Amino acid sequence: FNEQEQHLIDLNKQAAEIFNHLLLNTDLSGQALHYLEKDRHLDRQTMIDFQLGYLPSDWSLHQFFDEKKIPIEEQLTSGLISQYDDGSFHDVFANRVMFPLKDSYGNVVGFSGRTLDSTNSAKYINSKETAVFKKSRLLYHFDQAKQAAKLSQRFLLLEGYLDVIAAHKAGVDYGIASMGTSLTKEQLQLISRNSPKLTIAYDGDSAGQNATWRAISETRQFPHLQVDIVTIPAGKDPDEYLQEKGPEALKQIFEQDSSSINDFALEYLKHNRNLSNTADLSAYTTDLLTFLSEHPDPIANDLTLKKLSDQ
Ligand code: ATP
Ligand code: MN
Ligand code: MN
Ligand code: MN
Repeated sequence: FNEQEQHLIDLNKQAAEIFNHLLLNTDLSGQALHYLEKDRHLDRQTMIDFQLGYLPSDWSLHQFFDEKKIPIEEQLTSGLISQYDDGSFHDVFANRVMFPLKDSYGNVVGFSGRTLDSTNSAKYINSKETAVFKKSRLLYHFDQAKQAAKLSQRFLLLEGYLDVIAAHKAGVDYGIASMGTSLTKEQLQLISRNSPKLTIAYDGDSAGQNATWRAISETRQFPHLQVDIVTIPAGKDPDEYLQEKGPEALKQIFEQDSSSINDFALEYLKHNRNLSNTADLSAYTTDLLTFLSEHPDPIANDLTLKKLSDQ
């Protein structure tokens, strides 16, 4: 890192520590703690493990930075502070639960903040991109998951931060998530360099299944990465599944209920099609054959063709 980048990282580190302190050790965090403990069923140890934090709306990060003599340019560059048209400064993440985003080495490079207000249209906001924060190159929890993946020989790709935390609660520490965007080539490079296998377990709703389809397509450029798919039942996301069925059940589906990308394609391409209708069946078959040609695997594809003719 150059000097300016190091300053940014130091500032983010200080911010992560203060957010965590405000959440856990002050009486300014009542609403946030209530939300995390009662609504999201997180215990304090988990909040410590993931260095979760809170930025109370009646506390000013900008003022704190001023008192610490952090130059205003640096405050603005970090993306934590922003300026109104009238020239005044404000905290971008006011009244949000803070998730520090770390690079592969554990440096805090940015934040995602979740609103506590269910009527707020922006459920999560991320830090703006900076010299050290490039969304497309980052995976949430990758620094920790990298260690766990050495043992498990796989990463588990999830949609949301709280799904990664749910996996952790279920004893699966190789979970990672992208920053609310589709999976990029840079992220796949990080994954494939550190593990031979990837399990995708996005949300079970249709948005998650569509995102799974796109992610599978991205993995074509990584033929040596072995990819399989977990579909969370009943349209749930992993965190919701954990709340409903408990940690053992979640661990079980992560570790034992995956299907091949071909089996995923066989099911996914049926959506909105009536296969007893010849035109639909023909379109289905064409799409499936295209998929197989794009994912060449002679033995698996032979089996899939057999399943196609059997169904
Ligand atoms: P929660 O459980 O806190 O309600 P979630 O992770 O289940 O959140 P989803 O709606 O499934 O939320 O979205 C998945 C991910 O997409 C989030 O974890 C976040 O990274 C990202 N995301 C969601 N909403 C937004 C938004 N408005 N802006 C940017 N990213 C978002
Ligand atoms: Mn979702
Ligand atoms: Mn979700
Ligand atoms: Mn969720």
